[in-house]
Amino acid sequence: MAGIYVHIPFCKSKCYYCDFYSIVLNNSNLSLKHEFLEALIHELELQRSFFSGKRINTVYFGGGTPSLYSSEEINKILDKIFSLYDVVSGAEITIEVNPDDFTPEFAHELKKSTPVNRLSIGVQSFVDEDLKVLGRRHDAKQAEQAVRTAQEIGFENISIDFIYGIPHSLEPAESLNFNLEKFYSLSIPHLSAYTLTIEPDTVFGRKYHIGKLKPISDDLFATLYEFITLSLEQHGYLHYEISNYAKQGFISRHNFSYWTGEPYLGVGPAAHSFNGDYRYWNKPNIKPYLKAISQGKILQEKEQLTEKDRFNEYILTHLRTFLGINPSFLDNEFPQFYSVIRSKLQVFADQGFIYPDKHGNFVLTMKGKLIADNLIAELFI
Ligand code: SF4
Repeated sequence: MAGIYVHIPFCKSKCYYCDFYSIVLNNSNLSLKHEFLEALIHELELQRSFFSGKRINTVYFGGGTPSLYSSEEINKILDKIFSLYDVVSGAEITIEVNPDDFTPEFAHELKKSTPVNRLSIGVQSFVDEDLKVLGRRHDAKQAEQAVRTAQEIGFENISIDFIYGIPHSLEPAESLNFNLEKFYSLSIPHLSAYTLTIEPDTVFGRKYHIGKLKPISDDLFATLYEFITLSLEQHGYLHYEISNYAKQGFISRHNFSYWTGEPYLGVGPAAHSFNGDYRYWNKPNIKPYLKAISQGKILQEKEQLTEKDRFNEYILTHLRTFLGINPSFLDNEFPQFYSVIRSKLQVFADQGFIYPDKHGNFVLTMKGKLIADNLIAELFI
């Protein structure tokens, strides 16, 4: 199976923490929206042979802000995907929406006239102070209303995003607790929860640089992470990846396919693709992207994965998930590399960072999840 990711590179304004590639739409560049839609359709045509026979199990509209397009425009893209690619019936089709764009009219049209069956709502927090600090355009009331609207209209497969550990006047722990209570009361089946990271080329990055923003301490981060994970598990959510939690039957098929090495095609500037052998990435700049596509070309770079890359990739993706690392698989597929890390795995297990599950796979413990990046780096060849 395989997936398609559609990157919509537009936002109404730039959130203070965000370093994803997107440009702010205003009256002077509004025509880009239409131009880009046509280019996207053209890129899908240019890439039609990308999968060589693989069936498409997931389509994901991310950004940027896909909900800046109407349901009619979303359908235009989907029609093209369905006509050019072999999409399975019942494929998961997700769109990221922002609470301020998600009007009942838009939600209704999306449900009635498109095959979209999963929503990822960019809530980030149900606390007004958090949303102001983050530079989001919506408030807590709009965030809650967006979820209620989606449910009333009949969307069942809903995910929301949280950002926690935001440094501001309200206690981060208090804010997280409030958010979780609201999350449970709304019966949302999937949560992606990220701790705030400060990226250099953002408003937060610049504030941090001049000493006007201080991130929360590692200790507080650990406390919050443990709190959110235990709380969600007690409420019946499966912690299936470092930052993702789902009720039974609601794991994101699209995200999960990235972690299990399925091929995917990404279209739009800054989108990444993987065909099993090569990784490709489109350059993150819309003007050259539009020009190249109009000439029938795709501005991208690529690299072929070596055996070592494949091994590292397996460690990186599998250790992040509840599947864990399968030692027999590693021993069969990469014996020369497995022999190097075998003793390290045992040391990590002895130190309580990983444990063997019932299938014999090494899975992160809570203690291990807190330093997952370090453990992964240690296991890289
Ligand atoms: S967080 Fe989302 S809405 Fe905000 S600037 Fe980034 S892509 Fe746009």
